[in-house]
Amino acid sequence: MNKDITAEINKICTAVENARVRMMDIVRAVQEKYGCVSDDAIEIIARNISIPRVEVESMVSFYAFLSKEQKGTVAIRLCNDIIDRIYGCDVVARAFTEELGIGFGETTTDGFITLEHTPCIGMCDQAPAALVNNVVVTDLSSDKVRKLVKTLRETRDPQQLVTRFGNGNNSSDLVKAMVTNNIRKKGGIIFPLMDSAFAENAGLERAIAMSPVEVIDEINTSRLRGRGGAGFPTGMKWEFTRSSEGANKYIICNADEGEPGTFKDRVILTELPDLLIEGMTIAAYAMGAENGILYLRGEYAYLYDFLMSILSQRREKKLLGNAVMGKKGFNFDIRIQMGAGAYVCGEETALIRSCEGMRGDPRNRPPFPAQKGYLESPTCVNNVETFCCAVRILDKGAAWFSEKGTKDSHGTKLLSISGNCQSPGIYEVPFGITVREMLREAGAANARAVQIGGPSGQMIGPADFDRRICFEELATGGSVMVFGPERDILEVVSCFVDFFIEESCGYCTPCRAGNVILKKYLQKIMSGTGEPADLAALQDLGAVIKTASRCGLGQTSPNPVLTTLKNFRSLYEARVTESKSGLQPSFDLAAALKETESIIGRASVHP
Ligand code: SF4
Repeated sequence: MNKDITAEINKICTAVENARVRMMDIVRAVQEKYGCVSDDAIEIIARNISIPRVEVESMVSFYAFLSKEQKGTVAIRLCNDIIDRIYGCDVVARAFTEELGIGFGETTTDGFITLEHTPCIGMCDQAPAALVNNVVVTDLSSDKVRKLVKTLRETRDPQQLVTRFGNGNNSSDLVKAMVTNNIRKKGGIIFPLMDSAFAENAGLERAIAMSPVEVIDEINTSRLRGRGGAGFPTGMKWEFTRSSEGANKYIICNADEGEPGTFKDRVILTELPDLLIEGMTIAAYAMGAENGILYLRGEYAYLYDFLMSILSQRREKKLLGNAVMGKKGFNFDIRIQMGAGAYVCGEETALIRSCEGMRGDPRNRPPFPAQKGYLESPTCVNNVETFCCAVRILDKGAAWFSEKGTKDSHGTKLLSISGNCQSPGIYEVPFGITVREMLREAGAANARAVQIGGPSGQMIGPADFDRRICFEELATGGSVMVFGPERDILEVVSCFVDFFIEESCGYCTPCRAGNVILKKYLQKIMSGTGEPADLAALQDLGAVIKTASRCGLGQTSPNPVLTTLKNFRSLYEARVTESKSGLQPSFDLAAALKETESIIGRASVHP
């Protein structure tokens, strides 16, 4: 074993005190330094943190951004979700392969660049986009790809891409990124309508003047519901966590928005990071927690240094650390936990495991995280937008917050709208806005279909455009994808099914194997060889996957199929035919023989 490598990895482990719980940080650092986490590296890490090597190995094999195989010094990961496809990622992909002389999944012969595909990177409003190591490149075109590769070869430094291709319109100079915010509509709760609307840390100041129980009462009165999509009452979650037994309690912010079409957390993290940290601090006070974790998705690593600087500034201002804001006995601090490319970690039990330095396998519930979460202690996991709402509620009062919205959905909702619309971006709208109104605002009056809530949500057509966005009717964590008249809806569905196949953790069979079978039925129908019975099979299989899967990922994974079968049934029916003979080929024989025919130089004879 190379002595230098051993010394370096020892140093990486020592920097986090050889703590088992920090294994994610260790493997990420090793991957970044050496382009892989090799067998030797796994051995050294396991020895340092005193665990079996298989635990390190299983972690490395789980996350998309980690690998045992040697990658190039630079990894280009081109996003290939449906929105990027709409905006021409296939053309961009071709440009990359031509320019680099390699295919996807390959590394240039000099070992410098590896080219890969990746699912959603949170840039659907500026697609096609890619990650170049931690640098985000947006609005790609063939021409831009050529210049980008040239720059990389010249400078050997991905950060130079930002200098050469431009810095986005971000409020802080510390965010060095090409990414733009695209805030299209401010709603007055998260994004203020006037600069003077909210005083900094006023919510926290008011909170610590109250008792923790009064803070939770205020949140309960506002009837704030979790903004991740499920809409669980936030005050109730805080109450459960506060009343659970355990000396240490933890506050975790889920900033792992991985649902294709979602990018609202990215904008909050860029524009209003102090608001988020203030919200976590209020939550800590209410629940009696001393430690918090901000779980940042690996795709947003470009924000890491910026967020670290915000935490430092808040420590200096005594807004974090011991005696926060001078309140004796109120101690709270936050660490950032980077993810490494796993959508399932958006599920709260999987996210907690990932924070503990393990594979992001979801756990059975109960016990719920509020009882036994991070390190078996009571833990409250909320998403970015929820914490931000809590600040405004403490600042302006529950009644003020509840003025906006509907009977069961108070306040506003941030929507990330993308796809076939004129103005993709962030819209803060009051709950209760209809889909039609929303489409008008985004410049998508001729939409054929809208995917509400990302692939795990539902696909609706014009007949449903007068329904309202709110928990009582159309619930969403924020992702809204618009598809125009020219879009093949079955192709969209197929793309979503691919996403779930890719992201399933593989623990349960209905989710792991069921989605693969769904995909086969879809392919059969799309190729023109499907029959009516296949539609019933899709329906039945979808129902099984929904009910027999262990976590939210599996339970929602058949939604693209099930909701389009319901709302766009005629599109399926138009592509299936009843077999006259009673026998329906499950594949296209003529197409299957084409390659052989070209090799042997003659057409084969078949019925
Ligand atoms: Fe894993 Fe899917 Fe089962 Fe969830 S439903 S635990 S993602 S296999």
